[in-house]
Amino acid sequence: MRPSTLPSFQPSPPRGLRLEALFDELSELAGQRNAIDGRIVEIAAEMDRDGLWAATGCKSMAELIAWKIGVSPHNATSVMTVARRSEELPRCTVALQEGRLSLDQVQVIADRSGPESDAHYLHIAERMTVAQLRTAVALEPKPVPDPKPEPGPSISKSVTGEYTTYRIRVNNVEAAKVDAALASHRDGLIGDWKRDHADAEAGAPTPPFPTAKDAFMSLIDAGWDADVARRPHGQHTTVVVHLDVEKSVANLHLGPVLSGDDRRYLLCDATCEVWFERDGQPIGSGRATRTISRRLRRALERRDHGTCVVPGCGATRGLHAHHLVHWENGGETELDNLALVCPFHHRAHHRGDITIAGPAHVLTVTDGDGDVMQRGSLARPPTTPPPAVAPYRGPTGERAQWKWYHPFEPPPPTPN
Ligand SMILES: [Zn+2]
Ligand SMILES: [Zn+2]
Repeated sequence: MRPSTLPSFQPSPPRGLRLEALFDELSELAGQRNAIDGRIVEIAAEMDRDGLWAATGCKSMAELIAWKIGVSPHNATSVMTVARRSEELPRCTVALQEGRLSLDQVQVIADRSGPESDAHYLHIAERMTVAQLRTAVALEPKPVPDPKPEPGPSISKSVTGEYTTYRIRVNNVEAAKVDAALASHRDGLIGDWKRDHADAEAGAPTPPFPTAKDAFMSLIDAGWDADVARRPHGQHTTVVVHLDVEKSVANLHLGPVLSGDDRRYLLCDATCEVWFERDGQPIGSGRATRTISRRLRRALERRDHGTCVVPGCGATRGLHAHHLVHWENGGETELDNLALVCPFHHRAHHRGDITIAGPAHVLTVTDGDGDVMQRGSLARPPTTPPPAVAPYRGPTGERAQWKWYHPFEPPPPTPN
């Protein structure tokens, strides 16, 4: 049965009160988060200062932080920016540890502010948003840069719509080479065009006459083809190594003898060109089992998800195929004996800084101290209460009066 009298007026829920309660909680959490970020910065600064991370197998402190606390490289870089200036910015760093400033606020200051600006920014930072702080720091007078030197050789490109514009700057000798190569390719294309269309009837459709752009693309294609023919499996290296098979000694083509570490590093990935020699005489280049077919390379990329297998490393470019059992020791070039690694970690392994041990499906990577490098972050449910700090109320959000703002000016140098 329907109620006989429907209320004509629904009291609105106490939205204001709910919001206030939620804001209070956010405030509390933000304060705690700032304090936690402050402690993370402190820990990172200590590891960095004392070089504790050297044996971790990481490329940088930022990479280590990103890995161990499961944050983005961007966030980890912020932590390190603040960590590296924490001694120079003691007041701002303490404000972060006490929950009064956020990591992003202090990062802006640590990233660009001048020396001895700690007190100046502490004074304004608590009121300013991150964007306002950025403006404030940008207003600092910057030292006048030296006059620009004449730009060196470069290649740049810009994409607009369907077309890409390249700007190539080379010295005049190199330019002469480019001109000659372009002219040669254009002659070739015109010759082909005339041969193909000499007998075409007047008015019959013919492809357009070859242009300078066609000559350029022909040049690129020719270079590309030659490269593919020369190194059908190559991704990254054309290093040529001469290996004395009896003495296990290798030297670079027209270059120095390699150390044992460097030899094993270079010869591990099958993409460098190896000349096997005995008594200084070549006995054939390469060895069938050493080369990686395109199929195998793709299978390897698929299995290792196209990234370096070392925990904490997200490198995806220029990866090498590392032989878990080196082929010098009879290791085969097959999926189970290969692992994708970035050049940094590949070298680190062959230098003995880290150890990558197979088989490939249960890979074990250990760091310089022999500790197993675990995948994933160190995050776990907390067992200690959150830091007891005051709630973070955030910047006041008032409009900044830039007209009245005095940017930080470095103090004049003291005499003596
Ligand atoms: Zn290797
Ligand atoms: Zn790596």
